[in-house]
Amino acid sequence: MTLRMASFVADQPASRVIFGAGSLGRVAEEVERLGATRAMVLSTPEQRGQAEDVARRLGGRSAGVYAEAVMHVPVETARAAREEARRLHADCCVAVGGGSTVGLGKAIALESALPILAIPTTYAGSEMTPIYGLTEAGVKKTGRARKVLPRTVIYDPELTLSLPPGISGTSAMNAIAHCVEALYAYDGNPIISLIAAEGIRALARSIPVVVREPGNLGARSEALYGAWLGGTALGNSSMGLHHKLCHTLGGAFNLPHAEVHTVILPHATAYNRDAAPEAMREIADALGARDAAEGIYDLAVEIQAPVSLRELGMPEEGIERAARLATEFPYRNPRGVDYDSLVALIGQAWHGVRPS
Ligand code: NAD
Repeated sequence: MTLRMASFVADQPASRVIFGAGSLGRVAEEVERLGATRAMVLSTPEQRGQAEDVARRLGGRSAGVYAEAVMHVPVETARAAREEARRLHADCCVAVGGGSTVGLGKAIALESALPILAIPTTYAGSEMTPIYGLTEAGVKKTGRARKVLPRTVIYDPELTLSLPPGISGTSAMNAIAHCVEALYAYDGNPIISLIAAEGIRALARSIPVVVREPGNLGARSEALYGAWLGGTALGNSSMGLHHKLCHTLGGAFNLPHAEVHTVILPHATAYNRDAAPEAMREIADALGARDAAEGIYDLAVEIQAPVSLRELGMPEEGIERAARLATEFPYRNPRGVDYDSLVALIGQAWHGVRPS
């Protein structure tokens, strides 16, 4: 038997991670460890209460709460937040929330290089990536910069107990999508594949329990661990057709982020079925399913998540436009991308049929 290891490059910037129920209690010492004395605490308006709790825990090291984060980081929001950071003489950002809040911290860090301490409360995984996004006049642009990667991440599953079951389910599917695409990314590597497969395993095991029993702290912990792995997978490999379609559909039809990921993932996976057989085996194994795409679809059904673009409010006559937009600047993908195949894929996702 000939055994051969493929050549690869692994260049993984790391963050300090504090994981576990109650770990929020360490936020003050972690800010101190960053050498910061004036932390600006970020959140969405809905999570202002959690941000104020963090500010109280920081005591004299809090410079104030800025609860203005919104989805997709509009440039106006980023500009206002940077001005506030300057006005407060902030020397660190503490982001308490999901991808929208962490994204606002990244927009500040991009220009100021302020260190970020992230306290994620969803499973989106942005806290583990050097990827930032900014939206100008309705168009979202993303980029990568090491200085936006949070220096410290506190994963406290107690903060996720308030995440409603529906959002928990789709947010977890978003994390699974990061793992799936890392497994067939052209620039992946064996270490990231291990992380991605373990991420799918942890999320698939925990999320049905989280949706049934949102107060189950053990399941919440495991889901948050899976989210950490999903973010790591995303941050260390390139995205393929699945993420491209989600960005296109989200932007063109103003569809909700995590829900679009949930609907598209089984179909993007089926699309790549024959072009990435090794990844498919690993995904199916991690799900405990016969087939990767079917297993993902069945998981979405089990957690009562949306399975069709129709349910999300996308007009059926938008299918061709979406296919055209997604073929304009395609991301590198195991199977080549062409207009007719994408019309078929998006059509299946619009109807919500089980991929076979
Ligand atoms: P979100 O941050 O927009 O949060 C959704 C809503 O849930 C908000 O109202 C928020 O306040 C609320 N919420 C969050 N946690 C809660 C909790 N524990 N309890 C109660 N309410 C809670 O949603 P998201 O899915 O985490 O983030 C989506 C955004 O993140 C998108 O813009 C996406 O593009 C971006 N994203 C970026 C990356 C990256 O690497 N840059 C990765 C994933 C997602």
